[in-house]
Amino acid sequence: MSSLKARLYTELATKNAAMVEGIAVDPTIFAGLDLGGKHQEQVHTLFEMDHETHVSLPLPCGFLTPGGLRVQFRWDNRSAFRITHDDGIYHLREKNQVLFPIEFDSRPDYYGLKTSDGVEMSTVASHGQDGSISIAYSNECALKDKGEDCLFCNANATKDTYGEAEHINWKNPRQIGETVAAAYREFETLPRRHVNLTGGFVPERREVDYYLDVAEAIQEHTGLEDFNGTAVIGIPRDLKVIDKYKEAGFRTIAMNIEVWNRNIFQVVCPGKVTHCGDYDHWLEALEYAVAVFGRGRVRTGIVAGLEPKPSTLEGVEVLASKGIITLTGAWCPNPGSALEGHRTPTPEWHLDMAKKSAAIHRRAGFTFDQLYDSSPFSHFLVQDIYRIEDELLPVFGQDDATQDAAE
Ligand code: SF4
Repeated sequence: MSSLKARLYTELATKNAAMVEGIAVDPTIFAGLDLGGKHQEQVHTLFEMDHETHVSLPLPCGFLTPGGLRVQFRWDNRSAFRITHDDGIYHLREKNQVLFPIEFDSRPDYYGLKTSDGVEMSTVASHGQDGSISIAYSNECALKDKGEDCLFCNANATKDTYGEAEHINWKNPRQIGETVAAAYREFETLPRRHVNLTGGFVPERREVDYYLDVAEAIQEHTGLEDFNGTAVIGIPRDLKVIDKYKEAGFRTIAMNIEVWNRNIFQVVCPGKVTHCGDYDHWLEALEYAVAVFGRGRVRTGIVAGLEPKPSTLEGVEVLASKGIITLTGAWCPNPGSALEGHRTPTPEWHLDMAKKSAAIHRRAGFTFDQLYDSSPFSHFLVQDIYRIEDELLPVFGQDDATQDAAE
């Protein structure tokens, strides 16, 4: 392995640990950061990923390591990781040792725009870096009314905490179409652009009509028939409904099973069983979707850390063999979820999971583009491993002298 790749893997391990453990910070250091101007601020459109809530206290979304890996900032004052501001430079530290300087996320221009009916586009589509945006059309989940929220999920709690303060509301198709068009115009010169459409369950499961209207609005405002969109849905009872998303123009589809073990699935996701169908129906739907969308164009997610590692890896392997991409993001016991206060596995556990999951995806022949096109954001560790192995980071294009300086 080259010394550059070795250094990137060291940064990857640090990124993983800093996201699992969170990062301590004295928020006053962000006075030197232009949050909401030059730098991208957090907007809580669906989930709070910090380990503590912070209403009316703006925090950054994330930052880049020197090698160009993007780290999502998750505030946790109990963590050994810390950001300090020293002589105009922000550093990531572990205990008192400086690990490296960091660059906070730039704020995209479309965050400063409004839709034609006056809604701030920053509350419509979250920018996930690398030309990828994610839209939560609804910032609540109907499972709340029945007490059937997934145990790890804090969508409803996030709405209760931030909805009013940050003016987060349901989005209509026109607002979404205009916002995607503005973001896509801004990202036109990037190698890739992607939009992820998600949200909590809608009462009566009426989401299909809504998704079709949104697809039409995006096509109208961007002028793109294929706008590289992912429809994230709960599994319909009638699997033929899946065809409609493809016909509407979504390139990929995502249905998150969350847990591979069928018994744990029923306990962790009671509402998904009640409103979508049992475990076997979920598997059937994922396979059906591959027949409709194609191999590498169907994604699911397993929340890594809710079940034993061999169980999750078995799921990743089985699903990959059927043409399904599985994201195994680390479980973050976020505030307001039923599992708040629990502990996720160690950073080492999660790093091992990511490496094994990436190896399975590579053996199955999935490409970086397929991972990018089906993911909500572009900072998953599995994607980073592809970026390192396929030399996709800008640092690989630098001349030797610049690389040496970076190392
Ligand atoms: S279906 Fe589950 S994971 Fe999705 S928003 Fe509702 S409670 Fe959260």
